Amino acid sequence: MDDLLRQIRDDPRVRRAESSVLAGDATTVAQQVLLTRIPAPPFREEARGRRMAELMAAEGLEDVTVDGTGNVLGHVRGAEDGAPVVVSAHLDTIFTADTPVAVREEGDRLLGPGISDDGRGLAVLLAVARALHETGLRLRSPVLFAATVGEEGPGNLRGVRHLFGPDGAGVGAAAFVSVDGAGLDRIVTRGVGSRRFRITVRGPGGHSWVDWGLANPIHALGATVGRLAALELPTDPLGTLTVARWGGGTSINAIPQEAWAEVDARSESEATLTRVEDALRATVESSVAEAAAHAAGGGLSVEVDVLGVRPGGATPTDSDVVRAAVAATRAVGVEPTLSCSSTDANVPMAAGIPAATMGGGGEAGLAHTTDEWYRNRRGPEGVLRALYLLLLLAGLVPGV
Ligand SMILES: [Zn+2]
Repeated sequence: MDDLLRQIRDDPRVRRAESSVLAGDATTVAQQVLLTRIPAPPFREEARGRRMAELMAAEGLEDVTVDGTGNVLGHVRGAEDGAPVVVSAHLDTIFTADTPVAVREEGDRLLGPGISDDGRGLAVLLAVARALHETGLRLRSPVLFAATVGEEGPGNLRGVRHLFGPDGAGVGAAAFVSVDGAGLDRIVTRGVGSRRFRITVRGPGGHSWVDWGLANPIHALGATVGRLAALELPTDPLGTLTVARWGGGTSINAIPQEAWAEVDARSESEATLTRVEDALRATVESSVAEAAAHAAGGGLSVEVDVLGVRPGGATPTDSDVVRAAVAATRAVGVEPTLSCSSTDANVPMAAGIPAATMGGGGEAGLAHTTDEWYRNRRGPEGVLRALYLLLLLAGLVPGV
């Protein structure tokens, strides 16, 4: 890959693209600020999406559209009609609609909620589109540019799920790259998946003295949690299970009618998550049935509801997308670190599409707070890294 990238960078058209990236740095930062100033709370990304669509079209992407869930899509045609390479950044923030989204300058830093996560990613997408357009580089495979909705917690990855769902534009993609936040070294190649559950145990309830002996949902739940804590969980790949919250009961002198617990299970492997979920359900069922059998009178009922699901997955380190991302990172003079996180790449990873997430250059801090900041130190290298990665994955058509 390093040799291939050296060859690609020797092409005069790619040198022009590199110059275009450096010359366009101020525009890239201006677009980053402009987009960050448009509120994009979870489930309300439309206004920022509309502006992103205008900018994508202005930077030369073709057939810019908004899909059924609000993702903004734009295309670069390939010389061949192959599977597309998808490059994405997310539109949404974690901030509510009433959070002020002004961006201010303090020294060499820009401060504002979302300025890095993911204002930077959106700006990098536009900068890469501009560099391709200005220099007329022809790529072998088509590239799909996607500004997604719903990446952050509450959105539960709904944008990227739609993209890779039935009839989604990303189905069958050759590779997926998400540009998320700042930085030059991190390449996320593994996605932690999670499944969240709420266990509810119900019983007849009654007086703590008069009705003593009736089935007690809290006793049953306590015994169940004890068994969950003692479960032998898969270790390779690792699966975790955490009882994170619990509660219930009515009064100090009453046998409760209800008790509940919330459970978070995680793994990089979908198969492991399924094993953990199966173990959870079997344990809950047998434990509550046992408690009911020992109680006088009315029995206990139990429900396990799914509160949320994030698929997990991993991209093998010898896959093209990871090798290309490593080469692209080294080409900007940085030694990459492979890491694990929950990002838009989780969904294609779980679908078996090679995927990675990386930063868009520059430095940042305090993400997910209103004091989030971005410093444009080595920002252009973030754009170059994404451009190199794209050229490696989509292939450059020889020409003059
Ligand atoms: Zn993000």
